[in-house]
Amino acid sequence: MLLPALDWHPQPRLEPLHLDWLARSGVEVAVLRLDRIDPLISGNKWFKLLHHLRAAHRGGAAGVMSLGGAHSNHLHALAAAGRRFGFATVGLLRGHSLDTPTVLDLKAFGMTLHWLGYEGYRRRHDEGFWTPWRSQYPELWAVPEGGAGLPGAQGCMSWVACARDQLAALGWADYHGWWLACGTGTSLAGLVLAEAGQRKVHGVLAVPQGHGVSQNVENIVRAAGLADPLYELLDGSRGGFGQVDADLSTFIETTQAIELEPLYTGKALMLLKAQVEAGAFEPGTRLIFVHTGGLQGRRGFQ
Ligand SMILES: *Cc1c(COP(=O)(O)O)cnc(C)c1O
Repeated sequence: MLLPALDWHPQPRLEPLHLDWLARSGVEVAVLRLDRIDPLISGNKWFKLLHHLRAAHRGGAAGVMSLGGAHSNHLHALAAAGRRFGFATVGLLRGHSLDTPTVLDLKAFGMTLHWLGYEGYRRRHDEGFWTPWRSQYPELWAVPEGGAGLPGAQGCMSWVACARDQLAALGWADYHGWWLACGTGTSLAGLVLAEAGQRKVHGVLAVPQGHGVSQNVENIVRAAGLADPLYELLDGSRGGFGQVDADLSTFIETTQAIELEPLYTGKALMLLKAQVEAGAFEPGTRLIFVHTGGLQGRRGFQ
C-alpha cells in the first residue's frame, strides 16, 4: 500500500555545527539532518521519491520499480520505505550480481532485484527501456534513476519551511543561504524553487562539471516557471565521482562533530571549509548545511 507512505511527513532537525574553523571565521552553520529522519530511511532520497510515490498512487500502482548501482542510496531508501509502509519494490541494478552491504539490505527489505549488466544499464534512457519491465510488473510504477526531475525537486522544497520553523530555537533571526552536495542537482533545484530568489543556494558538485548538472537545474527551474533563480555550482569533486584522496579521508576522520561520507557530504563540507578560510563569507554569515545522508553507502568503502 502506498497510502501510508504518503502520510509520513518527517521533519528533519536543524542543529548547530560547532567546528574550530567556523568559530575562527565567525561564520555560523546549522545542519539540516536528513540523515536522521528515520533509523532505516535516510537522506534526501526519501524526499525526492515523495512526489513520484504520489503519482504512483494516483496511477493505481501497488508498488514501485527503479534503478541504481550496488551502493545506491536511492534504491536503499526506496526498499526501506517499501518495507516500512508495505508496498512492493523492484530494483534494476547496474553491473553483475554483487553482495555489497547495500545489496544485502535491499534483499533483507524484500526488494526484488534484477542485474542488468553494464551495457543493459546504459540503455536506461532509451525509448522502450521500460516496456518489458512494465509487462513483467504491470502493477508497479517506474521511477527514473535517483528520483530525478521536477517531481524530485518538489519533494525537497519542504526543507525550507522546515528549517525556518526551527531558526528561533537556534537563536537565529535569519540565515543567508544554503550549502549542499549535488549529484544531479535535483535537491538543489528544490531549494532554489522554495527560496524563489530570496536566499542563495550553494551547490557542491560531487560529479565534475560538464555532467549536465546546470542543465538539469535550469530545466527544473524553467519547468516550475521561476524567473530569477539564485544559486551557484562549485566543483568539489576532487578528481571525479567516488575519488577519495588522503586529504578528504583525513578531513572526514577529524571532523568528529558530524558523521560524513566521502562521496557527497564529506566533499561538500570540505569545500565549505576552504571557502570559509579563503574569506568567501563575512563574519556573522549564517548558512544551513544540508546533510543529505548517504552514510549507508559508506560501508562499501571501508
Ligand atoms: C543522491 C545524493 C546526493 C545528490 O542529490 P541530487 O539531488 O542528485 O543532487 C547528495 N548527497 C547524498 C548523500 C546522496 O545520496
